Amino acid sequence: MELVRTKDEVRRAVASRRAGGKIIGLVPTMGGFHEGHLTLMRLCAGRAGFTVASLFVNPIQFGPGEDLESYPRDEQRDSELAAGAGVDLLFAPSVEEMYAPGRSTFVEETELGRGLCGASRPGHFRGVTTVVTKLLNIVQPDLAIFGRKDLQQLMVIRRMVRDLDFPVEIVEGPLVREPDGLAMSSRNVYLDGPRRAAAPGMYAALMRAAAQIAGGQGQISVALAAAREEIERKTGGRLEYLQALDNELAAADEAAGCAYLAAALQLGATRLIDNVRVPPGSSGDGPDG
Ligand code: AMP
Repeated sequence: MELVRTKDEVRRAVASRRAGGKIIGLVPTMGGFHEGHLTLMRLCAGRAGFTVASLFVNPIQFGPGEDLESYPRDEQRDSELAAGAGVDLLFAPSVEEMYAPGRSTFVEETELGRGLCGASRPGHFRGVTTVVTKLLNIVQPDLAIFGRKDLQQLMVIRRMVRDLDFPVEIVEGPLVREPDGLAMSSRNVYLDGPRRAAAPGMYAALMRAAAQIAGGQGQISVALAAAREEIERKTGGRLEYLQALDNELAAADEAAGCAYLAAALQLGATRLIDNVRVPPGSSGDGPDG
């Protein structure tokens, strides 16, 4: 695996592989690799002849007071893991390489990114769509893979790519969990022992509610209220949102239209997000669906 820091090096490396007829795949990341990232990389390497991963903690998607400074950074470890997962080129630019001084252009999706995480993190998705646009322009991949862990991000990027005619296929990667059900996240390392032990309570409650809703056992609002109470009691955290959503991320109020339950939980200083499919297991990507 080659590690490069400049856009020019990426363009050169990709151009020669494309000229050789290879399919180019991209996995954008912020590092702090865990099995979720590595699964996306392996998936990409299985579909593309040349797999590029980006490792860039994107400052413009963090709000004031968020964890930009403390975000886990270990490039040595990450590059070894990426190489083992089939990445051919790791692009790890500096902030200066990515953002020219005086930049004044952003890309913004204006509908899907407003609710859920967008409501409490204003500007977050604008930062994501802007950096993903830049990465797609730098790498010009045939396909780019995003995990369902960040369901809203995946939907926002799909919409952007559709609306702006990016010549790329967006591929959904499965949501990878710890054995106890906690969705893997680079931020899980922030959790102290008791909070780490309590955190899977969110997933358990989401699964119970998803099964109830899919089984037609009462109203969605009743299942959500029970899950809210259970999550806060079992984790000791504070729910930012817990919503039943349709395939387009709009609020679902009837079981027939419900495709996902999605939640964000503030657990101490750590913000955790998760989602499950309704009915559970309907995605074929693991026990949670
Ligand atoms: P991040 O480094 O957190 O920006 O994530 C980079 C990519 O990995 C995104 O497409 C995420 O959705 C994906 N990802 C993060 N956590 C997981 C997980 N537990 N399972 C699958 N994909 C994940």
